[in-house]
Amino acid sequence: MKRLAILGSTGSIGVSTLEIIAEHPNRFQVVALTAGRNLELLAEQIERFRPEYVAVLNSFDADQLHDRFGAGGPHILHGTTGLVSCAADTGADMVVSAIVGAAGLEPTLAAIESGKDVALANKETLVVAGRLVMRAVARHGCHLFPVDSEHSAIFQSLQGHRKADVKRLILTASGGPFRNHALEDLAKVSAEDALAHPNWTMGRKISVDSATMMNKGLEVIEAHWLFALPADRIDVHIHPESIVHSMVEYVDGAVIAQLGIPDMKTPIAYALSFPERMPLDLPPLDLCERGLLQFEKPDFDRFPCLGLAYSALRKGGTAPAVMNAANEIAVEAFLSGQIGFMNIAEIIQSVMDQHHLQSADTLQQVLSADAWARQVAVEHVMRIESEGVK
Ligand code: NAD
Ligand code: MG
Repeated sequence: MKRLAILGSTGSIGVSTLEIIAEHPNRFQVVALTAGRNLELLAEQIERFRPEYVAVLNSFDADQLHDRFGAGGPHILHGTTGLVSCAADTGADMVVSAIVGAAGLEPTLAAIESGKDVALANKETLVVAGRLVMRAVARHGCHLFPVDSEHSAIFQSLQGHRKADVKRLILTASGGPFRNHALEDLAKVSAEDALAHPNWTMGRKISVDSATMMNKGLEVIEAHWLFALPADRIDVHIHPESIVHSMVEYVDGAVIAQLGIPDMKTPIAYALSFPERMPLDLPPLDLCERGLLQFEKPDFDRFPCLGLAYSALRKGGTAPAVMNAANEIAVEAFLSGQIGFMNIAEIIQSVMDQHHLQSADTLQQVLSADAWARQVAVEHVMRIESEGVK
């Protein structure tokens, strides 16, 4: 029985993880669940999976859950300390890190520092503090299993091969809902348009990141830390069908890919049960039915966020943390209608240009760069709003 703590259990990845656990009740026990604000769904999950610990964002919500479940229910914690306790102190064998954004960093790091294996969906953790996180993984001897479908595909394509024989990684990207939009039309797209991803159903932030292609940029940085390769050996191919989830090219010209229908359950399950594979109730991939699989180069002019991420990775230090924080603020502002779609990249670029690069060797350095970037990005959003030039 593997004991699991699931951080972000009410999100898209969290819910899929619990569905897999429900399909395999003899393999997994849920010891902790954490969520932001969706109390209703969290309460249902508590009833169904009976965790020993639960954490929510604020004390008001914690009190409400306490009233509902009483003394016989789980221990109910709140705030960052509650999250960190659920990640580090609950006796879990593995922590599923599925919070969205840099908010996932501290609990994920706490899980690693307490020696727990981590199934990592929260890519922002590696973008913001990749060096710190990978050092902690090495120091504490735990494992980081990628949940992101591209990184899971690469992880799978590396099995049985020598790392020294890898030439480059090729991350695939669907291209998102605006793959064929002209540059002048992109300025006019709405949040609703951006949330309508052609192949994947995901949380709101990652859906917008997919539309700007910042998601692929974050994934290039994530791949750099997970697989220890430099930016010029990590390429991106647009692949609109989302069937080839990513590839590894070896020095002899062989390219190994992992294919499957676009469903996050496959990579989540592999992270949970590695090196075994669990049967899943999913429709099979029928390549004959699918027909054509297409690949093309990404367009860095229409999707400047991808180039910004490569540039942040090459700069190193606090640059990726600053880029990520500016992106989080800009995406939130776009979702609430304060700015236009193309303002997202403009804000990130401007915040990155104003940043004085520092090393990112301590949590403090990373968190203060993150806080600084949020502040500057918020000011930029307010300027756009007051000038009315979306
Ligand atoms: P989501 O928005 O659906 O869920 C996020 C979860 O985190 C929710 O449970 C929410 O309550 C919680 N949360 C949000 N803000 C929080 C905060 N400040 N403190 C504590 N908890 C908070 O997001 P998602 O789509 O499930 O994505 C989660 C992570 O997985 C992201 O980093 C995303 O990039 C990554 N990811 C998602 C997918 C996908 O298909 N959804 C695929 C690959 C990677
Ligand atoms: Mg992905």
